[in-house]
Amino acid sequence: MDFKYCPQCGEKLYPKLCGDEGNIPFCDKCGRPFFPFSYCCVICLCVTEDDSEIALIKQKYVSDNYINVAGYVKQGEIPEKTAVREVKEEIGLDTVSCRYIGSYYYAKRDNLMLGYLCRVRKAELKTSVEVDGAEWFPLKYAQQLLRYDSVGWNLLNDHLKNEKKRNDAPEASHGISQ
Ligand SMILES: [Zn+2]
Repeated sequence: MDFKYCPQCGEKLYPKLCGDEGNIPFCDKCGRPFFPFSYCCVICLCVTEDDSEIALIKQKYVSDNYINVAGYVKQGEIPEKTAVREVKEEIGLDTVSCRYIGSYYYAKRDNLMLGYLCRVRKAELKTSVEVDGAEWFPLKYAQQLLRYDSVGWNLLNDHLKNEKKRNDAPEASHGISQ
């Protein structure tokens, strides 16, 4: 998001040199720059602890395809909390563990998306009013259900690569070192 007017007082901003950052929109009245930024979101792979199944949702206003649970990080909220909160709100599941996978940029909405693996126990999915449907699927079919090269698809792909690496190195996963 770029600022032309001050989001605090409404004054017109003008470019001011801010050190290494170059010219940044500046409010004289508030005495501070307003750096352009991308909204921070989380996107959650909701996968069972045995890595066999995934819960995907449908949201007509986002896509015709199945997608992952996602949502905006609230002001002052840490993204791990957002991930756990969104999984509970959108599909009614408790997250057993939450691990960061990687970050992705979604240009269409100017979103910086932080991807998490949310381990969940299989239970009935209870959707919020924001969600048009949710279903469990075998994890091995999930890549065909997500839009190719979408953020959700890449997040799943990165998770599958991580798991493959772990399975290919059995010594490391048993914690034995000699
Ligand atoms: Zn201002």
